[in-house]
Amino acid sequence: MSAVVSEAPSATTTGLREGAFGHATALACRECGHQVDLGPFYACPECFGPLEIAYDFPAVTREEIEAGPANIWRYKALLPVPTDIESSPNTEPGFTRLLEADNLARELGIAKVWVKDDSTNPTNSFKDRVVACALSAARELDAKVFACPSTGNLANAVAAAGARAGIKTVVFIPSNLEKPKQVNSAIFTENLVAVDGNYDDVNKLASEIAGEEEGGAFVNVNVRPYYAEGSKTLGYEIAEQLGWRLPDQVVIPVASGSQLTKVDKAFQELIKLGLVEEKPYRIFGAQAEGCGPVATAYKAGVDAIRPVKPDTIAKSLAIGNPADGIYVLDIARRTGGAVEEVTDEEIRAGIVLLARTEGIFTETAGGTTVAVTKKLVETGQLDPTLETVVINTGHGLKTLDAVSDQVSAAATIAPTYAAFKSAGIV
Ligand SMILES: *Cc1c(COP(=O)(O)O)cnc(C)c1O
Ligand SMILES: [Zn+2]
Repeated sequence: MSAVVSEAPSATTTGLREGAFGHATALACRECGHQVDLGPFYACPECFGPLEIAYDFPAVTREEIEAGPANIWRYKALLPVPTDIESSPNTEPGFTRLLEADNLARELGIAKVWVKDDSTNPTNSFKDRVVACALSAARELDAKVFACPSTGNLANAVAAAGARAGIKTVVFIPSNLEKPKQVNSAIFTENLVAVDGNYDDVNKLASEIAGEEEGGAFVNVNVRPYYAEGSKTLGYEIAEQLGWRLPDQVVIPVASGSQLTKVDKAFQELIKLGLVEEKPYRIFGAQAEGCGPVATAYKAGVDAIRPVKPDTIAKSLAIGNPADGIYVLDIARRTGGAVEEVTDEEIRAGIVLLARTEGIFTETAGGTTVAVTKKLVETGQLDPTLETVVINTGHGLKTLDAVSDQVSAAATIAPTYAAFKSAGIV
């Protein structure tokens, strides 16, 4: 079948191969529960709520997972992908380091901190996880073009995965995006499209194109239900790497809010499957003040998100109208977490702090997460006696400009010992 785009599927999806989506059984509406057949659909035909993957999970054991590959496919039984997923070329992201961050913990005044470092994924952000799942869906739906609107990192991941899979890619970005992120896409694809507008404009354009043109898989639009499930692997990995247990607190950056909701979903699934013991955990969202619609709603105690026009150095988080914002609010409130925001100055300081304490160079999104963690402690919202996982979602080499004024050579000297001594370094 061709990946015909539809907001309101009526006919039964046919032509899918047996087990195309693993143990997924249907698409279910997050709002009203209405179910439709698996296919390139993303909005509920009854209420236009977002569709999510429904599963009939097999009995999975820790041992089976541990025997799997050192990438996200070790959790393939819990994802909407076929059982032979490893045999199709993809970037094999995931199973990134969970670092014991004792120096950072000391600086923040938290008893125990772990950094989940997703900057080491194939294209240096967590987006490789979601794109690997979207690529599988695009293949199974026989899509001819693999595409996305992006704040930067997603375009990098789509362009690279498409190159490896041998499928045509088209990626759309705001034209004011950081140069390194533009190059990191253009190196993999001939079809980088820079749009004069912010991400929300780019996203609207992509939705329109997805509706007009047949045969395209827009990873975060018409195959979004499959794409979004990839973020669950962050939650699975954190639990497995902690020795099959849940952390007390997790701090997660929020753009659309998808990643945060899926880490929570992963924890809930692990509990239901008996892979971890049930225990309370708190989930915190991190935003930039220049684009903090979810943090604003959280603080105001309201349920509705008022869209904003982004103005922040954290461009990867610059989504003014976040699709999953209301679910982020639900989760923060349900788990006893919070959603907090920080200034661009605090974000820069957060980048330097993580670098100087743990040797990790994060991008502006990670700077936001570290700075928000600091602010959450200072404002008494995060319990400093509890174990805390901070997710670093991207690499600092993609946002060099953000900190190029913060750090520089200590001295420029002549190549002589005398010059070195007079520079006063040691
Ligand atoms: C996209 C992105 C996020 C946020 O992802 P959402 O799921 O849209 O909330 C966080 N960090 C980085 C580096 C990203 O590229
Ligand atoms: Zn519905």
